[in-house]
Amino acid sequence: MILRSRRSFLKLSASAAAGLLSAPALVGCAYGPAPGTSSGTGLRTPVKNDPFCLGVAAGSPRPGGFVLWTRLAPDPLSDDPSAPGGMRGGPVRVAYEIAADPRMRSIVRKGVAMADPDFAYSVHQEVGGLVPGVTYWYRFMLGAASSRIGRVMAGPAAHDDLARLRIGIASCSNYEQGYFSAYRHMAEEKPDLVLFLGDYIYEGVDTRFPVVRRHDGGIEARTLAQYRNRYAQYRLDPDLQLLHAQVTALATWDDHEVDNDYGGEFSRSFEDPRLFLQRRAAAYRAFYEHMPLRPSLSRPNGAHMRIHDSYNFGSLAQIFMIDGRQYRSPSPCYGPPDGGRSRVVYEDACPERLSSARSMLGAAQEKWLFGSLSASRAKWNVLGQNVLMAENRQHMEGGRIGYWSDDWNGYPAARDRLIRHMHECKLANPAVFGGDVHAYWVNELKLDFADHKSPSVASEFVGTSISSYSPPYEKFMKFVADNPHMKYFESRHRGYILSDIEKDRMTTKLQIVSDGRDPQARLATLKTYVTEAGRANAMEA
Ligand code: FE
Ligand code: CA
Repeated sequence: MILRSRRSFLKLSASAAAGLLSAPALVGCAYGPAPGTSSGTGLRTPVKNDPFCLGVAAGSPRPGGFVLWTRLAPDPLSDDPSAPGGMRGGPVRVAYEIAADPRMRSIVRKGVAMADPDFAYSVHQEVGGLVPGVTYWYRFMLGAASSRIGRVMAGPAAHDDLARLRIGIASCSNYEQGYFSAYRHMAEEKPDLVLFLGDYIYEGVDTRFPVVRRHDGGIEARTLAQYRNRYAQYRLDPDLQLLHAQVTALATWDDHEVDNDYGGEFSRSFEDPRLFLQRRAAAYRAFYEHMPLRPSLSRPNGAHMRIHDSYNFGSLAQIFMIDGRQYRSPSPCYGPPDGGRSRVVYEDACPERLSSARSMLGAAQEKWLFGSLSASRAKWNVLGQNVLMAENRQHMEGGRIGYWSDDWNGYPAARDRLIRHMHECKLANPAVFGGDVHAYWVNELKLDFADHKSPSVASEFVGTSISSYSPPYEKFMKFVADNPHMKYFESRHRGYILSDIEKDRMTTKLQIVSDGRDPQARLATLKTYVTEAGRANAMEA
């Protein structure tokens, strides 16, 4: 439950703030941490008139730089679409400071960033020229108000000889279905980076299951104002806010940032694509407004927004963040009546699934990715993407073979092209991470899934959900026997992946929390896998 005392907030007037760093006349952040979640989370006490209720974030590291993010929102869940976050009027100048120490004593950079009214008064400040590979601290200031202090790593230089990179990997954090203890535990493990692999928000409201807290307004988000408030509500969660303040982020999306199981311009409910693209434009815009993305790369253009990119961590690792939603072909055999209800397609009823014309990444992204993979000189090559990649052949009732068509199993030719390319360009130590299924899956990605003796090209780790409910364990365990390249499946726990990349090995832990619905859940390690450099398969430690 969210604490919300009154809706009678004053709106920030443009004249009070335009061009000035004076304290705006507003009555604000009457929001606090959810009951039972405040202790030990490091969330500062919310104050009245606080434009920084939504906290801070940093991400998109470049050599010697990064993007700093905040969003002015003194009334974060304002239900007035003309006053997002309780803000009105023109651009607002927000001061920022970057320091070499966590107490902000040794300031290395000061500047003024713009909070853009066209983007809900969000700030995306690209910073460069700092020392590559070094940790900094930062904060924003507006008049008398000061944000919490965030921590950020400047990207290493291309030639830097990093000994280790620790990455946390998260997906599927349904606010209604749980608390975000997993995010808090991840922050406490101090990864260098967090990779968000999709379903960061959920657009819908749950009507099927009992929930632990409610999405604001009890409505499915469809408009820009509704998507903005959905992100704002998630960012009021103290554990997510802590993670963003502590850990530099990379983000891609999956379907629930827009609409369940959409593909490209095609919605699952067969909406007119022109109408659906209006919704997609609103959803993408709100994603941009709330993530520490580079404006020079990702500022949205209508329903289009580029988020795929690669990030270099010296000679140790390159991370490719892939967009598996925006450019994909519609799901195979798309169309009423069946496509709208069930996403399993049968081998004997949908030969279209196998068509090599079907694309998961779109031609331009695929070309970019294949070229970037060929050019990579990194020791480890990490692909962060949204959905299960390994073949998942499912024996269904009546002896038929089915495939879940919303993941790479709906796009097998595109999947096989990517795996073959990694193999043929002799990509060093590829590792694929994904989300979406609310279950742990450890797989070997085969050059030819039909032949178990064919080479394993990469390990795949699919992360379980941060909080979203799990698929039925027994049902999915049955499919594992049909798929010998699957080494492990477990859907009964919530959590995240923590991976330590070193020169000679990658150690990947499947972390779990004691109860996704408990704001004070404890942390445990379910499994640990070690991938030795030069080997494409992960071995249980
Ligand atoms: Fe999900
Ligand atoms: Ca999903």
